[in-house]
Amino acid sequence: MNFCSNCGSAKLEKIIPEGDNLERFVCRECGTIHYTNPNIVTGVLPYTKNKEILLCRRSIEPRSGFWTLPAGFLENGETIEQGAIRETLEEAKLIVDDIALFSVISVPHINQIYTFFTGQIVNDDFGPTAESSEVKLFSIEEIPWDELAFPTVVKTLELYLQNGKGEVFNETLSY
Ligand SMILES: [Zn+2]
Repeated sequence: MNFCSNCGSAKLEKIIPEGDNLERFVCRECGTIHYTNPNIVTGVLPYTKNKEILLCRRSIEPRSGFWTLPAGFLENGETIEQGAIRETLEEAKLIVDDIALFSVISVPHINQIYTFFTGQIVNDDFGPTAESSEVKLFSIEEIPWDELAFPTVVKTLELYLQNGKGEVFNETLSY
């Protein structure tokens, strides 16, 4: 952090504010304390009645070219469910129904929390978007394990294939 988001001053110093126990960037001009907190990534594990799973091939970094579940950063003012539905529409033109929270994965060393919902696929005119070069249904046997983008996606798919939907998993990854 280089500039104060309140007054624009460059006079920021990293100190432990009074009554706090962690270092923060504090503005020496206006006194604003700048907190940084983990980001939430929210998404959907879309399935069909025939037990196929939909994956998107990323066309943007990080991990461009690898397959992922549709997911992205939560926006201000959204619930994690709204964010997951929005990202699924944006990344795959996909509409899902019967949404249920499935996995919450803390990744503390990169300051991220992932939440995935299961959702039944409604429309069949899903397809590629600016963020996904390919959007495709996979049978369980076809899942491209070696080409998955993120450990959180691997973990969520493993939990789903081992347990099915209906249970909520609280996991921590340190990859
Ligand atoms: Zn300031």
